[in-house]
Amino acid sequence: MAIDFTMSPEQRQIQAMAREFAENVLAPVVPEADREPDPLLAHARTKGAYVEAYKAGIAMAMLPKEYGGGGLSCLDLTIAAEEICAVDPGFACTVLCNGLGLMPVAWYGTEEQKKRFIGAATSDPTGEFLGGWTAGEPPGGTGGTANFDNPFPRPAGIGLTATRDGDHYILNGRKKWSSAGGWDAKGVNAQTVIVRTDGDVGGTKGLSAIVVERGTPGISYEFVNKEGHRTASNALITFDNARVPVDNLLPGAAGNGDFVINRNFAWSGPVAGIAAVGMARSAYEAALKFCKANTAGSLTPIIRFQNVGYILGDCAAKIESARYFCWRASDYLDKHEQHAELVGAMCKINTTEAMFDVIYKCMQVVGVNSLSTEYPFGRFLREASVLPIYDGGNMGMQRRRVHGVIADEGFNPRAVMEDSTIVFEKSMESIGTVADWDRQYSNSGSTPFVSAAE
Ligand SMILES: Cc1cc2nc3c(=O)[nH]c(=O)nc-3n(C[C@H](O)[C@H](O)[C@H](O)COP(=O)(O)OP(=O)(O)OC[C@H]3O[C@@H](n4cnc5c(N)ncnc54)[C@H](O)[C@@H]3O)c2cc1C
Repeated sequence: MAIDFTMSPEQRQIQAMAREFAENVLAPVVPEADREPDPLLAHARTKGAYVEAYKAGIAMAMLPKEYGGGGLSCLDLTIAAEEICAVDPGFACTVLCNGLGLMPVAWYGTEEQKKRFIGAATSDPTGEFLGGWTAGEPPGGTGGTANFDNPFPRPAGIGLTATRDGDHYILNGRKKWSSAGGWDAKGVNAQTVIVRTDGDVGGTKGLSAIVVERGTPGISYEFVNKEGHRTASNALITFDNARVPVDNLLPGAAGNGDFVINRNFAWSGPVAGIAAVGMARSAYEAALKFCKANTAGSLTPIIRFQNVGYILGDCAAKIESARYFCWRASDYLDKHEQHAELVGAMCKINTTEAMFDVIYKCMQVVGVNSLSTEYPFGRFLREASVLPIYDGGNMGMQRRRVHGVIADEGFNPRAVMEDSTIVFEKSMESIGTVADWDRQYSNSGSTPFVSAAE
């Protein structure tokens, strides 16, 4: 029997270890951190738990074993992540960004870079080491995120430039939402940054990835205050003539920064999906408990009402199916050299959106009391609202990638079912990035729209 959904004894151990950490180390610090109004302090309040996670081998579990990481498979990572996300997906996001920041080094770096950057991440005696992933840019006319692969040259697409000057690149521009602020708004230890190394060509040709280390002069960080994932760090980053050694450019990604974005945000798809499962699971369990303990003026608990039982049964079924989709997408990553540009995206879109609805449904059956801060539903909803939007937004990035792959002439619609490799090509990018107005501007030769938002 090849298809077996039973966890191995090792996987049960990983799950138990992650649950033990989440419930006993992480859970006690989350309420206060979530209430903290200052976003930097909110993140910093989880530092003690992070150091514990580092020492327990959780924080760097996804990095390759040969460079000191845990060497966890994507499937095992997803199993562990559900337990942490059921308690706090914001903290899980901090840990996930170690992978988003350093897996590109494993995929596209030289042997020397892997030893230097991943080796440093996995051998920090303080346990405070953070990796960062810096692709997104602020809204307005000077940068782009969703349309990073717009085929037109600047000002379309990614705006952070890296200009060669001897043995350094000089970085200028801004990024936003990156996890790279660090514990003190002075930057994480090592972040992979998507830069435009060639300003004359369009997004699919001129992008690269470079590792920026903590302490690099010319970079400032301002924490973003946000509604959900308050324990995760997100920063507006300004690069002002920041000098980064040429040796930090990932050679496999030179001129292919677009591939890094697509691969990375699909590698993390099942983890984002399982974050949604974790939150929905917590909401469902809280709702079931409430519905078994409250009568709403009837003589029996409200779970006895058909609508309540039907809806909660549907919620349970949706959570189960989402979990298995995340497991399968992770399994696909494990079997296809950590490429899942299609199925990683499909998994993220489907599960994060379905789970948001599950939490809303749980609130409906609990009723008005779900709005009281006495209960956790409001927080679950806030956290779940992040998941379709972050990690390569479902609308502007993930759905476009799915569209680009399935529109390809050679696409096999049974590829995922048949477990065959889907090779992600440049020709699958840029779909849906050129709106009618862009065409109008490019035909008329007039200046493209530049927002005054800045
Ligand atoms: C908690 C959290 C953690 C994050 N961590 C990181 C991180 O570590 N590193 C990082 O780089 N980023 C990070 N982000 C940012 C995140 O990855 C976003 O998905 C990314 O910034 C893109 O956002 P967006 O898709 O909304 O794109 P935007 O460019 O902001 O687009 C806005 C909207 O415009 C519409 N749109 C734009 N273009 C198109 C199009 N061509 N077709 C259809 N619709 C379109 C869509 O509706 C889209 O949602 C994080 C965000 C959060 C909230």
